[in-house]
Amino acid sequence: MSNEMQGYVQNAFEYARSSCGEGRVASYIPALAQVDPKKFGIAVALSNGEYHCAGDAEEPFSIQSISKVFTLTLALERLGNTLWESVGREPSGSSFNSIIQLETEGGKPRNPLINAGAIATTDRLIDNRSVDTTISEILDFMRESAADDSVFIDGIVATSEAGMGARNRSLAHFMSAFDNLRHPVETILAVYFQQCAVAMSCSQLARAGLFLALSGKDPSSSNQLISSEHCRRINAIMLACGHYDNSGEFAFRVGLPGKSGVGGGILAIAPGQGAIAVWSPGLNQAGTSLVGSLALEHFAAAAGWSVFE
Ligand code: GLN
Repeated sequence: MSNEMQGYVQNAFEYARSSCGEGRVASYIPALAQVDPKKFGIAVALSNGEYHCAGDAEEPFSIQSISKVFTLTLALERLGNTLWESVGREPSGSSFNSIIQLETEGGKPRNPLINAGAIATTDRLIDNRSVDTTISEILDFMRESAADDSVFIDGIVATSEAGMGARNRSLAHFMSAFDNLRHPVETILAVYFQQCAVAMSCSQLARAGLFLALSGKDPSSSNQLISSEHCRRINAIMLACGHYDNSGEFAFRVGLPGKSGVGGGILAIAPGQGAIAVWSPGLNQAGTSLVGSLALEHFAAAAGWSVFE
């Protein structure tokens, strides 16, 4: 198994590498525009404890919207089904920071993985606690699931996004006007900008996503980190909504629940098998890593990983 799996990872890396430099690095967050577009890493964490990596798999990058999976997990565990009072679970078919549907749908975002929905989810996760307490809970959870205390928040990226955050502030104020937020906009965004600025390597991220491939169990202790029911539901939302208006295409090509971030990372989950993290900063139109998607498509096909077979 080990050599075979390492071969799949290496082949996917070689295949996608030729497209490195294509796609556009996110520039609306100035700190992200500084990242070398040629970076490319891939890591696979298997349910049996094996790891397989290629390229820049140990280099931390900004996970951005991939953090939304982890805040959704925490919020669902904390609040249960009352979370769905604030946010839906339908694909939006719109870009990640779109405001259009909020107006026609009463300020309730379509799902927790678009910006508006993630802001609403973070609002509920705060649950009358302080910014620092909430951010510590998020960071502790990321460290625990990655089994690595070196996971950190990149303060430069957080400040950079906060300085250019008019769009997210607009989304939040708009939801607030519909009475769909319980805390002040700046409190929620103080958490949101920091959660998006969590820095992790592909290896750490693949390990951190493994509980979603294991029905919610911690891979080392087998303790139930989250309920298996929540785990199934998070995977369903990732499959339907994890790539905004590119979610259908990703499901078609890769066939796995996934979540992209504008830092160029993607986390994909193969239930029962393992978790894959890729990183390459050049993005397609929908803000999903171009080279990362190619690598995932190649790897999933070679390994035979799909939720549809
Ligand atoms: N922090 C980014 C934002 O809010 C996250 C977007 C993304 O990764 N798609 O705009």
